[in-house]
Amino acid sequence: MKSTLFLVTLLALGATSASAQEKTLNLYSARHYQTDEALYADFTRQTGIKINRIEAKEDELLERIRNEGANSPADVFLTVDAARLAKADELGLFTPVQSKVLEERIPPNLRSPNWFAFSTRARVIVANKELVKIEDAQNYEDLAKPALKGKVCSRSGSHPYNISLMAALIAHIGEAKAEEWARGVVANFARSPKGGDTDQIKSVAAGECGVAISNSYYLARLLRSSKPEDRQLMERVSIIWPNQKGVGTHINISGGGMLKTAPNKVSAVKFLEYLASDNAQRYFADGNNEWPAVASVKIMNPALETMGKFKSDPLDVATLAKNAAAAQRTYDRAGWK
Ligand code: FE
Repeated sequence: MKSTLFLVTLLALGATSASAQEKTLNLYSARHYQTDEALYADFTRQTGIKINRIEAKEDELLERIRNEGANSPADVFLTVDAARLAKADELGLFTPVQSKVLEERIPPNLRSPNWFAFSTRARVIVANKELVKIEDAQNYEDLAKPALKGKVCSRSGSHPYNISLMAALIAHIGEAKAEEWARGVVANFARSPKGGDTDQIKSVAAGECGVAISNSYYLARLLRSSKPEDRQLMERVSIIWPNQKGVGTHINISGGGMLKTAPNKVSAVKFLEYLASDNAQRYFADGNNEWPAVASVKIMNPALETMGKFKSDPLDVATLAKNAAAAQRTYDRAGWK
């Protein structure tokens, strides 16, 4: 009798700790956008699941997950850029998620078996029309042409945003031609690569560079800025959707997946499904100026509306991931530091 009672007590305890676990989600995030706070708070409000968030740089988080091994508390890993998701995937950190919700809501070109994209961003050309003719900078390929000699500014070729752009070029024109392009761009540099995308936009506005490449949300952020100087700066910058007559503008993603060692798998799937919900999708768009991965979601973002519609490259994001290593080698050979 006594031993039965003991067993019952143990089972009850086990049940308690399991349900306590279900009320928690350990999120490792390499997204550093203030507006994401609202996203996480909304999830907790809806589900009662508390999020323990660890934010750090991509490489630090990956290193941490690897070091923690089987004991890692991490349930979900979120990051930006297909090249970075690919890296986590190559390290074998993710586990496939089977979810009807995710399959129905996220288009096939924006997911792989192991991870899902939740928002998209475009890599666009920005130009100072006092320094360059806009018609000379309509395509990524144009950045390598003699008309833009001494006019091109860029961030590092090792940055994932540029790695993924190169990965797309490799998919479209092959590695040899892509290398030739990179050499041409390097030959057109106004200065050595430095800074982030916003620095390139500012340099274009200041006339230090004629053209540069930037992710779309940085432009939207400046357009919507509460600082008048940011909005004034944007008056000197033309936004060009590249390759409209060809394959379309290069698109990248932010996304995430469930970790193989996740202790709270039910919460993890709920969270990933939440990120595909209308509410969460609107946070990505209205908060961080990205486009929702879920096509049916209506957004209300004046800056994105101002920037207008464009033709995007339909390339599968998994291809960007696959070509990431070749892309880095290509930049290295071309001397794009
Ligand atoms: Fe960024």
